[in-house]
This record gives sequence, C-alpha cells and structure tokens, in this order.
Amino acid sequence: MLTRLRHFIKNIFKGGIDLFFPPLCLNCNAKLADDEQVICNQCWQAIPQMTDSILSKKDKGKFVDNLYSLWLFDENFQNIVHELKYNNCRSLGLKMGQRMGDHLKNIKIPLDECILVPVPLHAIKKRERGYNQSELIAKGISEITKIPVVTNLVKRIKNTATQTKMNKKERIENMHRAFVAQSEIVAKTVIIVDDVYTTGTTINSVAEAMKNKKGNLKIIAYTAAMPES
Ligand SMILES: [Zn+2]
Repeated sequence: MLTRLRHFIKNIFKGGIDLFFPPLCLNCNAKLADDEQVICNQCWQAIPQMTDSILSKKDKGKFVDNLYSLWLFDENFQNIVHELKYNNCRSLGLKMGQRMGDHLKNIKIPLDECILVPVPLHAIKKRERGYNQSELIAKGISEITKIPVVTNLVKRIKNTATQTKMNKKERIENMHRAFVAQSEIVAKTVIIVDDVYTTGTTINSVAEAMKNKKGNLKIIAYTAAMPES
C-alpha cells in the first residue's frame, strides 16, 4: 500500500513538473514530444549534413585511411556537444550514434570486418565526467549496425590538456604518444569514433598506436561532426 501511495505521489509530482515546466528543445524551445529528449526531431533534421566535396578537402593525417562524418559542425551542433560533454546529457550520445549508424550503413564498408573503437578518455577525466561521450556515440552506432564496440584495446596514457586554443603544431606535441594499444588486434578494419574532428590530431594519435601494433590495419575515422574548414 505504501509503495503504491509513494508511486502515486511521485507520478503527481512528475506530472506537475511537466505541466509547469514542460521539457523544451535546447535549440528551438519547442515542447518536446514523449519520444524526444533534449533536442527535438526537427532540430536534429535541420543540422546541415557533411558533403563529399568538403570531406575530400580534409586532411586525413598520416595514419587514417578513410574519413567520414555525418554533420557539419555549426553553432547548434556546438550546443548539442556541450550538453553531451559537460551537462551529463548521456542520451544525446546514444541518439547521435543511432543517426550515425543509419548513415554508416549507406557507406560502402564491409561492416562485418569492422570493430568500433571510441577515442578513450584518460582514467582521471573519465572519473570526473562519469562517462566517455565517444563511447556513448559508439554504442548508438552499434545498436543500428551491430558492429561490436571495443573499449579496452587502446588506453590513453597521457592526461592531455584541452586543445581548444592550440594550433596544429601544439596539438601534435600535446597528443604525442598519448595512447597505447594494449592488446592484439584481430579485426581487419577499425572505425575510430569521436564527437568532433577538428585537426584530426587526436584520432591520428589513436590510429598511430594501433598501426604500431598491426601495420596492415585499415583505419576509418568516423566522427559526428566536422567544421567546414
Ligand atoms: Zn528543436
């Protein structure tokens, strides 16, 4: 009886919160439908998608064989990534990954030869944040494509400083030997997953660690977004 009463009160309370403070879309402030979280479906649709011509001009770096991204990094996307990384909005990572999974199925890659490797966070940073956003994105991709996610292959051994204000040379120094591949790699192709591709320094450092372990490995970098230039 007490449990039911508690449940009843909890529901009234939740209903009250939703009535007076209905959850709104972070981008457009529209009231969210029951199946939407943080960002409404219309706003997801409105984020501009990456084009082949922009992608072809990107510097893949020395260790990445192919580079893909679903969206163009714009102001709206920046807000989304901020919520995902610094505001504990974990569901955004999964949603992002599911959309990326749908997109990946249209790219001609032998998916059954692949594994997904999210860019690892340093253990200290992961403890502070409580989760790794790239891992959430990879999980979302895996739900759609059934490609397995492998999180113990590469370890981040350097707790690197934030790179936002660094130029490319500084980023390369910052990321030098930041990762190590700690076990044998059986898969033929690895898809490295991250939220944003800027200069590609981080992903290339992960790729280098894995190619040191297995020279003939094919490496695809797949990020949620990339700036136009
Ligand atoms: Zn919206």
